[in-house]
Amino acid sequence: MKAGTLHTKNWRRLQEWRARLPHALLLSGERGLGKLDLAFAFAASLLCETPREEGASCGECLACRWFSQGNHPDFRLLQPAALQTEEAEDRKSARGGNAGDGEGKGEKEKSTRGKQQITIDQVRELDEFLCVGAHRQKSRVILIHPAERLNREAANALLKMLEEPPHEVLFLLVSSEPMRLVPTLRSRCQNLRLSLPPAAEGETFLTAAGLRDAATWLALAGGAPLLALQLAEKTADWQPLLTEALQCGERLDALSAAARLEKSLKTVKGENPLPQFVDWAQKWLADLNLAAQNLPIRFYLGERAKIMALAKKSLPVSLARFYRQLLQLRRESAHPLNLRLFLEQFFLDYRALFPEEE
Ligand SMILES: [Zn+2]
Repeated sequence: MKAGTLHTKNWRRLQEWRARLPHALLLSGERGLGKLDLAFAFAASLLCETPREEGASCGECLACRWFSQGNHPDFRLLQPAALQTEEAEDRKSARGGNAGDGEGKGEKEKSTRGKQQITIDQVRELDEFLCVGAHRQKSRVILIHPAERLNREAANALLKMLEEPPHEVLFLLVSSEPMRLVPTLRSRCQNLRLSLPPAAEGETFLTAAGLRDAATWLALAGGAPLLALQLAEKTADWQPLLTEALQCGERLDALSAAARLEKSLKTVKGENPLPQFVDWAQKWLADLNLAAQNLPIRFYLGERAKIMALAKKSLPVSLARFYRQLLQLRRESAHPLNLRLFLEQFFLDYRALFPEEE
Protein backbone atom coordinates (compact mmCIF):
# COMPACT_ATOMS: atom_id res chain seq x y z
CA MET A 1 0.00 0.00 0.00
CA LYS A 2 1.54 3.29 -1.00
CA ALA A 3 0.68 5.20 2.17
CA GLY A 4 2.11 2.32 4.16
CA THR A 5 5.42 2.69 2.37
CA LEU A 6 5.46 6.41 3.05
CA HIS A 7 4.85 6.29 6.78
CA THR A 8 6.36 2.99 7.75
CA LYS A 9 6.75 3.88 11.41
CA ASN A 10 3.21 5.16 11.75
CA TRP A 11 1.88 2.21 9.84
CA ARG A 12 3.48 -0.16 12.31
CA ARG A 13 2.06 1.84 15.16
CA LEU A 14 -1.42 1.57 13.67
CA GLN A 15 -1.01 -2.15 13.20
CA GLU A 16 -0.02 -2.52 16.86
CA TRP A 17 -3.33 -0.96 17.83
CA ARG A 18 -5.15 -3.43 15.69
CA ALA A 19 -5.36 -6.05 18.41
CA ARG A 20 -7.06 -3.61 20.78
CA LEU A 21 -8.59 -0.94 18.62
CA PRO A 22 -9.42 2.36 20.29
CA HIS A 23 -12.96 3.61 19.70
CA ALA A 24 -11.72 6.76 18.08
CA LEU A 25 -8.47 7.57 16.43
CA LEU A 26 -7.34 10.99 15.30
CA LEU A 27 -4.79 11.18 12.52
CA SER A 28 -3.41 14.68 12.50
CA GLY A 29 -0.52 16.55 10.95
CA GLU A 30 0.25 19.15 8.32
CA ARG A 31 -1.42 19.25 4.96
CA GLY A 32 0.07 17.13 2.21
CA LEU A 33 1.58 14.37 4.33
CA GLY A 34 -0.75 11.68 3.09
CA LYS A 35 -2.92 11.38 6.20
CA LEU A 36 -6.03 10.58 4.22
CA ASP A 37 -4.29 7.91 2.18
CA LEU A 38 -2.94 6.40 5.36
CA ALA A 39 -6.42 6.43 6.91
CA PHE A 40 -7.91 4.72 3.86
CA ALA A 41 -5.12 2.16 3.85
CA PHE A 42 -5.71 1.43 7.52
CA ALA A 43 -9.47 1.12 7.04
CA ALA A 44 -8.88 -1.24 4.12
CA SER A 45 -6.48 -3.27 6.20
CA LEU A 46 -9.03 -3.63 9.01
CA LEU A 47 -11.75 -4.73 6.65
CA CYS A 48 -9.64 -7.03 4.49
CA GLU A 49 -10.39 -10.71 5.03
CA THR A 50 -6.96 -12.02 4.13
CA PRO A 51 -4.51 -9.27 5.10
CA ARG A 52 -0.90 -9.61 4.04
CA GLU A 53 2.17 -9.24 6.20
CA GLU A 54 2.52 -5.95 8.02
CA GLY A 55 -1.28 -5.87 7.89
CA ALA A 56 -1.61 -4.49 4.38
CA SER A 57 -4.90 -5.26 2.67
CA CYS A 58 -4.70 -7.95 -0.01
CA GLY A 59 -6.61 -5.98 -2.61
CA GLU A 60 -8.20 -9.17 -3.91
CA CYS A 61 -10.71 -10.52 -1.41
CA LEU A 62 -14.39 -9.65 -1.62
CA ALA A 63 -14.04 -7.05 1.16
CA CYS A 64 -11.16 -5.35 -0.65
CA ARG A 65 -13.10 -5.25 -3.89
CA TRP A 66 -16.10 -3.72 -2.18
CA PHE A 67 -13.88 -1.25 -0.42
CA SER A 68 -12.15 -0.09 -3.57
CA GLN A 69 -15.51 0.32 -5.27
CA GLY A 70 -16.68 2.42 -2.35
CA ASN A 71 -19.50 0.14 -1.24
CA HIS A 72 -18.23 -1.95 1.64
CA PRO A 73 -21.24 -2.32 3.97
CA ASP A 74 -19.06 -1.93 7.08
CA PHE A 75 -17.45 1.30 6.01
CA ARG A 76 -18.73 4.88 6.02
CA LEU A 77 -17.02 8.02 4.85
CA LEU A 78 -18.17 11.31 6.33
CA GLN A 79 -17.03 14.42 4.53
CA PRO A 80 -18.53 17.78 3.58
CA ALA A 81 -20.96 17.60 0.68
CA ALA A 82 -18.87 20.06 -1.30
CA LEU A 83 -15.91 17.73 -1.17
CA GLN A 84 -17.97 14.86 -2.53
CA THR A 85 -19.04 16.90 -5.55
CA GLU A 86 -15.55 18.23 -6.14
CA GLU A 87 -14.18 14.74 -5.87
CA ALA A 88 -16.63 13.44 -8.39
CA GLU A 89 -15.54 16.17 -10.77
CA ASP A 90 -11.88 15.98 -10.04
CA ARG A 91 -10.49 13.75 -7.35
CA LYS A 92 -7.14 15.47 -7.47
CA SER A 93 -8.23 18.98 -6.60
CA ALA A 94 -10.57 17.81 -3.87
CA ARG A 95 -8.49 19.32 -1.11
CA GLY A 96 -8.80 22.92 -2.35
CA GLY A 97 -11.33 25.38 -1.03
CA ASN A 98 -14.43 26.63 -2.73
CA ALA A 99 -13.56 28.14 -6.11
CA GLY A 100 -16.84 30.07 -6.38
CA ASP A 101 -17.99 31.38 -9.72
CA GLY A 102 -19.21 34.75 -8.50
CA GLU A 103 -22.79 34.08 -9.54
CA GLY A 104 -25.96 34.25 -7.45
CA LYS A 105 -24.41 35.09 -4.12
CA GLY A 106 -26.60 35.30 -0.99
CA GLU A 107 -28.58 32.08 -0.86
CA LYS A 108 -26.03 30.18 -2.80
CA GLU A 109 -23.19 31.39 -0.66
CA LYS A 110 -25.06 30.28 2.42
CA SER A 111 -25.76 26.86 1.06
CA THR A 112 -22.19 26.54 -0.19
CA ARG A 113 -20.98 27.26 3.32
CA GLY A 114 -23.30 24.52 4.62
CA LYS A 115 -21.83 22.15 2.09
CA GLN A 116 -18.35 22.90 3.37
CA GLN A 117 -19.26 21.39 6.72
CA ILE A 118 -20.04 17.96 8.02
CA THR A 119 -23.58 18.31 9.29
CA ILE A 120 -25.56 16.74 12.10
CA ASP A 121 -27.77 14.99 9.57
CA GLN A 122 -24.76 13.20 8.21
CA VAL A 123 -23.81 12.07 11.71
CA ARG A 124 -27.38 10.98 12.47
CA GLU A 125 -27.42 8.84 9.37
CA LEU A 126 -24.82 6.73 11.13
CA ASP A 127 -27.42 5.55 13.67
CA GLU A 128 -28.75 2.94 11.36
CA PHE A 129 -25.27 1.81 10.39
CA LEU A 130 -24.39 1.44 14.05
CA CYS A 131 -27.56 -0.45 14.99
CA VAL A 132 -27.00 -3.23 12.53
CA GLY A 133 -24.04 -5.43 13.41
CA ALA A 134 -21.06 -5.91 11.14
CA HIS A 135 -21.86 -7.59 7.85
CA ARG A 136 -18.55 -9.38 7.56
CA GLN A 137 -17.82 -10.21 11.23
CA LYS A 138 -14.91 -7.81 11.33
CA SER A 139 -14.57 -4.23 12.48
CA ARG A 140 -16.63 -1.40 11.13
CA VAL A 141 -14.94 1.85 10.25
CA ILE A 142 -16.25 5.38 10.01
CA LEU A 143 -13.77 7.73 8.40
CA ILE A 144 -14.34 11.42 9.07
CA HIS A 145 -12.43 13.88 6.93
CA PRO A 146 -11.54 16.68 7.38
CA ALA A 147 -12.66 16.32 10.99
CA GLU A 148 -12.32 20.04 11.73
CA ARG A 149 -15.25 20.59 9.37
CA LEU A 150 -17.67 18.88 11.75
CA ASN A 151 -19.92 21.72 12.76
CA ARG A 152 -20.70 22.13 16.42
CA GLU A 153 -23.99 20.21 16.38
CA ALA A 154 -22.43 17.41 14.42
CA ALA A 155 -19.47 17.25 16.79
CA ASN A 156 -21.83 17.04 19.78
CA ALA A 157 -23.83 14.27 18.17
CA LEU A 158 -20.62 12.41 17.51
CA LEU A 159 -19.52 12.89 21.10
CA LYS A 160 -22.76 11.28 22.27
CA MET A 161 -21.95 8.25 20.18
CA LEU A 162 -18.48 8.07 21.63
CA GLU A 163 -19.81 8.20 25.18
CA GLU A 164 -21.35 4.81 24.62
CA PRO A 165 -19.08 3.48 21.98
CA PRO A 166 -20.64 0.84 19.77
CA HIS A 167 -18.90 -2.51 19.74
CA GLU A 168 -16.09 -3.06 17.23
CA VAL A 169 -16.51 0.30 15.55
CA LEU A 170 -13.58 2.56 14.83
CA PHE A 171 -14.14 6.26 14.32
CA LEU A 172 -11.18 7.37 12.27
CA LEU A 173 -10.82 11.13 12.25
CA VAL A 174 -8.41 12.88 9.91
CA SER A 175 -7.47 16.51 10.42
CA SER A 176 -4.86 19.05 9.36
CA GLU A 177 -6.19 21.47 11.97
CA PRO A 178 -6.88 19.38 15.07
CA MET A 179 -6.93 22.47 17.28
CA ARG A 180 -10.19 23.44 15.61
CA LEU A 181 -11.87 20.29 16.88
CA VAL A 182 -14.07 20.52 19.95
CA PRO A 183 -11.63 19.75 22.81
CA THR A 184 -13.92 17.15 24.39
CA LEU A 185 -14.00 15.33 21.09
CA ARG A 186 -10.26 15.56 20.69
CA SER A 187 -9.69 14.17 24.15
CA ARG A 188 -11.84 11.14 23.38
CA CYS A 189 -9.55 10.17 20.54
CA GLN A 190 -6.31 8.31 20.56
CA ASN A 191 -4.06 10.74 18.71
CA LEU A 192 -1.55 9.80 16.07
CA ARG A 193 0.30 12.83 14.83
CA LEU A 194 2.13 12.40 11.56
CA SER A 195 5.29 14.34 11.01
CA LEU A 196 7.21 14.90 7.80
CA PRO A 197 8.59 11.61 6.57
CA PRO A 198 12.39 11.49 6.14
CA ALA A 199 13.39 13.08 2.82
CA ALA A 200 14.70 9.81 1.41
CA GLU A 201 11.36 8.11 2.12
CA GLY A 202 9.51 10.99 0.48
CA GLU A 203 11.71 10.89 -2.60
CA THR A 204 11.32 7.15 -3.01
CA PHE A 205 7.58 7.56 -2.76
CA LEU A 206 7.51 10.33 -5.36
CA THR A 207 9.78 8.50 -7.76
CA ALA A 208 7.59 5.42 -7.45
CA ALA A 209 4.61 7.66 -8.23
CA GLY A 210 6.31 8.51 -11.52
CA LEU A 211 7.54 11.98 -10.64
CA ARG A 212 10.77 13.21 -12.16
CA ASP A 213 12.90 15.62 -10.10
CA ALA A 214 11.42 14.16 -6.93
CA ALA A 215 13.94 15.98 -4.70
CA THR A 216 13.13 19.36 -6.23
CA TRP A 217 9.38 18.95 -5.83
CA LEU A 218 9.73 17.61 -2.34
CA ALA A 219 11.79 20.66 -1.39
CA LEU A 220 9.24 23.00 -2.95
CA ALA A 221 6.54 21.34 -0.89
CA GLY A 222 8.53 21.83 2.30
CA GLY A 223 9.03 18.06 2.61
CA ALA A 224 5.36 17.03 2.39
CA PRO A 225 5.20 14.29 -0.26
CA LEU A 226 1.51 14.42 -1.17
CA LEU A 227 1.70 18.17 -1.43
CA ALA A 228 4.71 17.74 -3.72
CA LEU A 229 2.65 15.46 -5.92
CA GLN A 230 -0.18 17.97 -5.97
CA LEU A 231 2.15 20.83 -6.84
CA ALA A 232 3.75 18.86 -9.65
CA GLU A 233 0.37 17.91 -11.05
CA LYS A 234 -1.06 21.37 -10.73
CA THR A 235 1.92 23.19 -12.15
CA ALA A 236 0.64 25.47 -14.81
CA ASP A 237 2.32 27.30 -17.66
CA TRP A 238 2.79 30.37 -15.54
CA GLN A 239 5.09 28.72 -13.02
CA PRO A 240 8.25 28.59 -15.19
CA LEU A 241 7.46 32.15 -16.32
CA LEU A 242 7.57 33.30 -12.73
CA THR A 243 10.86 31.53 -11.99
CA GLU A 244 12.31 32.98 -15.18
CA ALA A 245 11.29 36.51 -14.17
CA LEU A 246 12.59 36.13 -10.61
CA GLN A 247 15.93 34.91 -11.91
CA CYS A 248 16.43 38.16 -13.81
CA GLY A 249 17.10 40.18 -10.68
CA GLU A 250 18.31 43.65 -11.62
CA ARG A 251 17.78 42.90 -15.33
CA LEU A 252 14.05 42.29 -14.84
CA ASP A 253 11.68 44.16 -17.10
CA ALA A 254 8.94 44.39 -14.49
CA LEU A 255 6.13 45.62 -16.72
CA SER A 256 6.54 43.09 -19.47
CA ALA A 257 6.94 40.28 -16.93
CA ALA A 258 3.64 41.41 -15.37
CA ALA A 259 2.00 41.37 -18.81
CA ARG A 260 3.27 37.87 -19.60
CA LEU A 261 2.21 36.51 -16.24
CA GLU A 262 -1.19 38.15 -16.45
CA LYS A 263 -1.84 36.52 -19.79
CA SER A 264 -0.80 33.14 -18.51
CA LEU A 265 -2.64 33.38 -15.19
CA LYS A 266 -5.83 34.31 -16.98
CA THR A 267 -5.87 31.02 -18.86
CA VAL A 268 -6.14 29.12 -15.56
CA LYS A 269 -9.56 27.58 -15.13
CA GLY A 270 -11.30 27.15 -11.79
CA GLU A 271 -9.48 28.18 -8.63
CA ASN A 272 -7.86 31.62 -8.43
CA PRO A 273 -4.15 30.87 -9.03
CA LEU A 274 -2.84 34.06 -7.44
CA PRO A 275 -2.43 32.74 -3.88
CA GLN A 276 -0.30 29.95 -5.30
CA PHE A 277 1.65 32.50 -7.31
CA VAL A 278 2.45 34.36 -4.09
CA ASP A 279 3.37 31.08 -2.37
CA TRP A 280 5.95 30.34 -5.04
CA ALA A 281 7.30 33.87 -4.77
CA GLN A 282 7.50 33.54 -0.98
CA LYS A 283 9.54 30.39 -1.32
CA TRP A 284 11.90 32.16 -3.71
CA LEU A 285 12.28 34.98 -1.21
CA ALA A 286 12.77 32.55 1.64
CA ASP A 287 15.63 31.01 -0.32
CA LEU A 288 17.11 34.43 -1.07
CA ASN A 289 16.97 35.25 2.63
CA LEU A 290 18.71 32.01 3.52
CA ALA A 291 21.36 32.51 0.87
CA ALA A 292 21.98 36.05 2.11
CA GLN A 293 22.83 34.56 5.51
CA ASN A 294 25.03 31.89 3.96
CA LEU A 295 22.56 29.20 4.94
CA PRO A 296 21.55 26.32 2.69
CA ILE A 297 18.48 27.10 0.60
CA ARG A 298 15.36 24.98 1.07
CA PHE A 299 13.04 25.20 -1.89
CA TYR A 300 14.47 26.01 -5.31
CA LEU A 301 17.26 23.48 -5.16
CA GLY A 302 17.66 23.49 -8.93
CA GLU A 303 18.35 27.27 -8.96
CA ARG A 304 20.86 27.33 -6.14
CA ALA A 305 23.66 29.07 -8.08
CA LYS A 306 21.34 31.75 -9.41
CA ILE A 307 19.86 32.40 -5.98
CA MET A 308 23.28 32.65 -4.33
CA ALA A 309 24.37 35.19 -6.94
CA LEU A 310 21.19 37.26 -6.57
CA ALA A 311 21.40 37.26 -2.78
CA LYS A 312 24.81 38.91 -3.00
CA LYS A 313 23.38 41.76 -5.03
CA SER A 314 20.75 42.69 -2.48
CA LEU A 315 20.70 43.90 1.10
CA PRO A 316 19.58 41.34 3.68
CA VAL A 317 17.38 43.97 5.28
CA SER A 318 15.50 44.66 2.03
CA LEU A 319 15.07 40.96 1.38
CA ALA A 320 13.60 40.45 4.83
CA ARG A 321 11.31 43.43 4.38
CA PHE A 322 10.04 42.20 1.03
CA TYR A 323 9.41 38.78 2.49
CA ARG A 324 7.17 40.36 5.12
CA GLN A 325 5.46 42.39 2.43
CA LEU A 326 4.60 39.15 0.66
CA LEU A 327 2.70 37.96 3.70
CA GLN A 328 0.40 40.93 3.21
CA LEU A 329 0.21 40.28 -0.54
CA ARG A 330 -0.79 36.70 0.21
CA ARG A 331 -3.93 38.00 1.92
CA GLU A 332 -4.71 40.38 -0.92
CA SER A 333 -4.16 37.68 -3.50
CA ALA A 334 -7.42 36.00 -2.54
CA HIS A 335 -9.37 38.95 -3.92
CA PRO A 336 -7.11 41.14 -6.05
CA LEU A 337 -8.79 44.30 -7.25
CA ASN A 338 -6.83 44.34 -10.47
CA LEU A 339 -4.64 41.47 -11.56
CA ARG A 340 -2.34 43.51 -13.82
CA LEU A 341 -1.72 46.19 -11.19
CA PHE A 342 -1.10 43.53 -8.59
CA LEU A 343 1.54 41.87 -10.75
CA GLU A 344 3.16 45.12 -11.84
CA GLN A 345 3.53 46.24 -8.25
CA PHE A 346 4.92 42.89 -7.28
CA PHE A 347 7.56 42.85 -10.00
CA LEU A 348 8.51 46.51 -9.54
CA ASP A 349 9.04 45.92 -5.82
CA TYR A 350 11.01 42.78 -6.53
CA ARG A 351 13.16 44.56 -9.11
CA ALA A 352 13.89 47.29 -6.55
CA LEU A 353 15.61 44.72 -4.33
CA PHE A 354 18.55 44.77 -6.71
CA PRO A 355 20.10 48.21 -7.14
CA GLU A 356 21.76 48.94 -10.52
CA GLU A 357 25.44 48.32 -10.47
CA GLU A 358 27.46 51.49 -10.81
ZN1 LIG B 1 -8.43 -8.21 1.13
